[in-house]
Amino acid sequence: MRGQDAHDLSLEVSEARWKLALEGSNMGVWDWHLDTDLVFRSGQWHEIYGYAEGEVGPTAQDGRKLIHPDDLTQAIQDIQDHLAGKTTLFESEFRLRCKDGTWKWTQSRGMIVSTSPNGRPLRLIGTHTDISERKHSEAEMLRLAHYDVITALPNRVLFLDRFEQEIRKAQRHRQALALMFIDLDRFKEINDTLGHDTGDQLLRETGQRLQGCVRATDTVARLGGDEFTVLLTHLEDMNHVDRIAQTILDHIARPYQFGDEMVYVTGSIGITLYPHDSTDLETLVRNADQAMYAAKSSGRNGYHYFTPSMQAAAFSRLKIANDLRKAVQLEQIQVHYQPIVELATGRVTKAEALVRWLHPERGLVFPGDFIPIAEDTGLITVIGDEVFAQAARQTALWRNALPNFQMTVNKSPAQFRNSREHTHWIQLLHDLGVPGESMVIEITEGLLLDAHPPIAQRLESFHDAGLRIAIDDFGTGYSSLAYLKKFEIDYVKIDRSFTANLQPDSDDLAICEAIVVMAHKLGIQVIAEGVETETQRDLLLKAGCDYAQGFLFSRPLPAAQFEARFFPAG
Ligand code: C2E
Ligand code: CA
Ligand code: CA
Repeated sequence: MRGQDAHDLSLEVSEARWKLALEGSNMGVWDWHLDTDLVFRSGQWHEIYGYAEGEVGPTAQDGRKLIHPDDLTQAIQDIQDHLAGKTTLFESEFRLRCKDGTWKWTQSRGMIVSTSPNGRPLRLIGTHTDISERKHSEAEMLRLAHYDVITALPNRVLFLDRFEQEIRKAQRHRQALALMFIDLDRFKEINDTLGHDTGDQLLRETGQRLQGCVRATDTVARLGGDEFTVLLTHLEDMNHVDRIAQTILDHIARPYQFGDEMVYVTGSIGITLYPHDSTDLETLVRNADQAMYAAKSSGRNGYHYFTPSMQAAAFSRLKIANDLRKAVQLEQIQVHYQPIVELATGRVTKAEALVRWLHPERGLVFPGDFIPIAEDTGLITVIGDEVFAQAARQTALWRNALPNFQMTVNKSPAQFRNSREHTHWIQLLHDLGVPGESMVIEITEGLLLDAHPPIAQRLESFHDAGLRIAIDDFGTGYSSLAYLKKFEIDYVKIDRSFTANLQPDSDDLAICEAIVVMAHKLGIQVIAEGVETETQRDLLLKAGCDYAQGFLFSRPLPAAQFEARFFPAG
């Protein structure tokens, strides 16, 4: 009996010491006597939750009523595990209701401090710590890991997770799903020209528009870049998929207003169906991507369902990229030349260099079939260098026959974005003894609007070396002639789409005339592309257009044929 007393006393002393220590910290202390279920809670404990002392009932049962219903089962499990001896330290995290009705994340820790002679726990002492801040940052990290920062939509990780769940659900209920990949057409152009802030705004608004097109149970996510995805669930009627796809396209095509700026974009959608096309998540994702690619190649602003033949097309693209890697080394890159005619005299004074790829199995491959792949893979740089070198050597030769002969060479924006300098082009001309003014670089309008300073610098260095600059496909982008004044542009090439429909009194004729008048005022000469008929040629001549190029005069030809036809004496 005395022994028991002495033990209790020493326990009380050490208890008082550590209670004191804990009270000094920002932890709340609790002391629970199991046989009576009575709990002592310290002043700090009450302070954490905003209760006055005595306001919370005296038993552990009273305290439990304050725990968030979603957390209660786990909390009870944790305490039972400790009482059963499964844990040496009791530890549990839950939300506890404050006086003002809000919830506070709490970490409760404690341990058995006294047991009956037969080992039954009699008393537990422990603490409560406010861990709201930690929980908040944990939630924030979880959000960052699963949601896209710009649009606040689920990101790729969360999307794939949900997709997997939806596949399982659809399997159980024998339902169909539709997966859509949505890609904005020419987003890169907008991002480059109007700046990244506008680009981000556009993505944000696109996300909102997409969400407005689907039901709450469907998932809209952003996979990255300008790629979004929509997962349609509970599909009963397949016409529903067509309707949604069309609605999405319509909504994307509505103008975006950013300050004074009106921006127009379109989207392309690839669609694949579960279980019709596949039941496998990865395959479905790949299908949707391939279908989207098909939608893009068939003219953008449309949607396309997956078909097995797309698999073959994707494989073929991969093979082209592989073969293209070796094309320069194997001397498969050739250049054909299309004459450019001075309209007033009918004389050929210029030519455009157009790349061709002589593939061992496919034969002559046209730029439309490999330039986009070369741009995507970065191979455009070596190919572009090769084209320029061949064209420059040809120019050196042809200037012997025609001293003022000029060669025009295409240069895509991807070639300008490359970090490499282009002084070696100028050096090559120097080595060949070809003056700078015998070469014209054709660029697209979009490039001029590109905000990057290196692009303006590179254009300038070409100009300083005497090279001329032409704007290709003029009229299809969104720059105005007035804008060209800022840059030292020498030629504009009227896009083929205007030339094609030239008729007396047609709108397109009015456009061509206007381009010519304004260009001349700015000291810029005009080249019309895609001239196929004599009517077109005559109308352009009357409109004052300086040069023309097109099948009426000649298709692009290999150097030897070009020479034979246009420089018979040389
Ligand atoms: P582009 O610069 O607009 O070149 C004119 C295209 O129109 C050429 O197609 C030419 O064959 C075609 N064409 C010429 N006259 C007529 C005509 O009267 N009617 C019609 N319907 N078409 C005509 P091509 O050679 O297939 O080249 C396609 C595009 O590939 C070019 O369009 C250019 O953007 C790009 N490209 C060609 N060579 C190169 C190159 O060396 N580097 C780069 N970056 N792009 C190139
Ligand atoms: Ca061109
Ligand atoms: Ca063109």
